[in-house]
Amino acid sequence: MPATIIDGREISARVRAEVKAEVDAFTAQAGKAPGLATILVGEDAASEIYVANKRRASAEAGIADFHQHLSAEVSQDEVAAVIDACNLNPEISGILLQLPLPHGLDAAPLTAMIAPEKDVDGLTPVSAGRLVQGAPGLRPCTPLGVIELLDRHGVELRGAEAVVVGRSNLVGKPLAFLLLERHATVTICHSRTRDLAAVCARADVLIAAVGVAELIGAAHIRPGAAVIDVGVNRTEAGLRGDVDFEAARERAGLLTPVPGGVGPMTIAMLLRNTLTAAQLQSA
Ligand code: NAP
Repeated sequence: MPATIIDGREISARVRAEVKAEVDAFTAQAGKAPGLATILVGEDAASEIYVANKRRASAEAGIADFHQHLSAEVSQDEVAAVIDACNLNPEISGILLQLPLPHGLDAAPLTAMIAPEKDVDGLTPVSAGRLVQGAPGLRPCTPLGVIELLDRHGVELRGAEAVVVGRSNLVGKPLAFLLLERHATVTICHSRTRDLAAVCARADVLIAAVGVAELIGAAHIRPGAAVIDVGVNRTEAGLRGDVDFEAARERAGLLTPVPGGVGPMTIAMLLRNTLTAAQLQSA
């Protein structure tokens, strides 16, 4: 039987509607809306589109906009001063420093400056440490989106064999810890993994976050597995995931498409993180 295709756009719209209702209730009670500061440095065309999409979705959810667009010529100290000011501004609940930064700026120390309670991207060392230690904190948006898709489809994570292909700080590692938090038995694969197909084929839940078009084929998929494709690869044939969609749909039980799977979830989880940050700061 062909796989059930997960509709990330539809689930994202549902999450965003839920967040909007909660934002409205928060705003009525607190007397001010949650606020999101997106910080964009320079003129990178893709980053401009990403930030514009995040701001539009935030506005639709009733979140106040504190966008800052800095010139590509700013110094490390000037970006640091903007982050400092956002950390201190009580109207701002969440701060997002859009990466990559222009050449000459060092992203890691700037990201690390974001106050943990405002770290809606969940990428600071403090947030990462809290995740690893199982302490409350803000979690990265794309991994949260993957868990949300699995939850909305009723995939049992407790005791499941979960295999994550990719070990980046942005996706693979935090996702592995979120799955561990949910009591899955987690294996992390990477470029040095021996016999990737054999390891992946053990998975009840297989997640590809690699950046190699159609790396995951039928041989990697256990019949009936839930397969989540985080990859976004621009190929001559168009946008492709890390999973060979046509091969996977004949074998998987559940499958995300690219586009229209994980992608739309990332912004939805950013909105939810911004609301969560505002709620925690006003508690
Ligand atoms: P990344 O930082 O480049 O990490 C890629 C990971 O894949 C690394 O851990 C690497 O292993 C591993 N890898 C590379 N080739 C491999 C192979 N042949 N076999 C097994 N593992 C291999 O990428 P990322 O930031 O995590 O992003 C991964 C993909 O997700 C990209 O396509 C990106 O565009 C996409 N993405 C999508 C969203 C979304 O919202 N949909 C958000 C973020 C990222 P090593 O560590 O050994 O090098």
